[in-house]
Amino acid sequence: MAPPHDPSSYPPKLSQEELDRLVLASKDWSAANGLCVRPPPALVSSDQDPVGILAVNAPVTLFPSLFPRSCFEQGQSVQRAYNELYAKVSQDEDFLQNIVNDVIEGDEFIANLWKVHQRVKKDGYAHKLSLGLFRSDYMVHQEVTSPPQVKQVEFNTIASSFGGLSAQTSGLHKFLAQSEYSLLENSPGIDVNELPSNPTVAGLAGGMVAAHKLYGQSKSGKPLCIIFLVQTGERNVFDQRHIEYALRSSEVPVFRLEFADFLKYAEVAETATKELLYTLPSNASKVFEVSAVYLRAGYGPGDYPDSSGWEARYQLERSAATKCPSVLTQLAGAKKVQQVLASRDVLSRFVGKDSDKAKKLLDTFTNIFPLDSSTEGLRARKLALDETECQKYVLKPQREGGGNNIYRSDIPPFLKSIPERHWNSYILMELITPPPARNIIMRNGQLEEGGVIGELGVYGACVWKSGTGEVVHNEDVGYLLRTKGDKSEEGGVAAGFGCMDSVLLV
Ligand code: ADP
Ligand code: MG
Ligand code: MG
Repeated sequence: MAPPHDPSSYPPKLSQEELDRLVLASKDWSAANGLCVRPPPALVSSDQDPVGILAVNAPVTLFPSLFPRSCFEQGQSVQRAYNELYAKVSQDEDFLQNIVNDVIEGDEFIANLWKVHQRVKKDGYAHKLSLGLFRSDYMVHQEVTSPPQVKQVEFNTIASSFGGLSAQTSGLHKFLAQSEYSLLENSPGIDVNELPSNPTVAGLAGGMVAAHKLYGQSKSGKPLCIIFLVQTGERNVFDQRHIEYALRSSEVPVFRLEFADFLKYAEVAETATKELLYTLPSNASKVFEVSAVYLRAGYGPGDYPDSSGWEARYQLERSAATKCPSVLTQLAGAKKVQQVLASRDVLSRFVGKDSDKAKKLLDTFTNIFPLDSSTEGLRARKLALDETECQKYVLKPQREGGGNNIYRSDIPPFLKSIPERHWNSYILMELITPPPARNIIMRNGQLEEGGVIGELGVYGACVWKSGTGEVVHNEDVGYLLRTKGDKSEEGGVAAGFGCMDSVLLV
């Protein structure tokens, strides 16, 4: 039997020469395999790259991070239950209406999303299916007396990113482990075969292919296509391209459309069935009927600078195309929903009381509190405002994309700086503190070695029928490990805090 691993001797100590070789091997593999992003403006200004041809290595760890096998398996094994749960929540308009009512006073963005839903509902929804490409994020929580467990950080229902790059990161770490570069075989207790496969690209593309097929025949007589609705100037474009190319290799026509151009090139047909039609910008005589729209935009207020953004979202929503996500599915991903679901009674409304599913889901919850005027909310307000107690918490608004949270001692002054009637639109969450780990991060060519914190994301692909809510496609489709230095609170790769990583199971 292999000797037990020793986390303090991981990753292996390398001489400068060995490290240089490993860095070069990582850079080359990343560039050759599209483990890349467009350079951040801090690194390359638009003057230096006026036509946008540069790509740089995505920030990445030089070694896979050690990760408890039981925790990894826990995250995988609960994903299909999460897919079903969020499909159900998305169907439950009354439940979502209550959530929206709770946060609407301090959150104009959520209010506007709800308005889109109401406007579409008045004439009747045309779509027959919904597609969820979800990502449930976790950190490892270790208590002294019990085995480690994953606890959920958040559940993403819109623009769950990094599936494309995470498959490549697993590929990089596998390549290095099997090469002469990483010297992992010298690490006691480490088995380099414990790098699990990571089929994110195939799985996310598979969810879209399922939605595409289930859409059925074209009603307009035009050929069918899938649209990726993206942000202008997206830096994380290769992450998206990996999925697009996988779709194209399964012979599905797929096009990228900037959200800001939606009204220019897409329109809803004036028919009872409201097909979404897309005209190729390069050839106005080429028109497609859109089976599914994958949103990598539209998740934050920045994409709606004026009313035309909201008009675009309304037109998209009222069309027959299958949305990933619909407005209701996007709302289901609000952090307020996660907080409300974390109560056993509310959860049982969706998954039953004593089911195996309910237990598995409950095991992943940590303490999350409302900041409303309920008894629980008033107690949480006290914790949030107390200078000692607040150290254990993170305060979250209903926003996505990283960089929006308020941590620890920043919480009391922040709350005092906003009107009390807006406090309802935040949730207070206990900070999860994973066991210490070490790695070397390579970001923009610089190395940072030291203590790191990992966040595991598990992807799910799910298609369900509108009306009945019947789930017709439900899969867990690989994982993401994002790692950040242990001095940073935020872990987003796109927001510049974290980096790509993969797991080495121990
Ligand atoms: P977003 O939707 O903006 O990604 P998250 O809820 O994922 O919002 O929070 C952003 C980051 O903040 C996470 O990636 C994680 O690094 C950190 N974080 C959030 N919640 C917690 C928590 N309960 N414990 C520890 N870190 C957290
Ligand atoms: Mg999120
Ligand atoms: Mg997050």
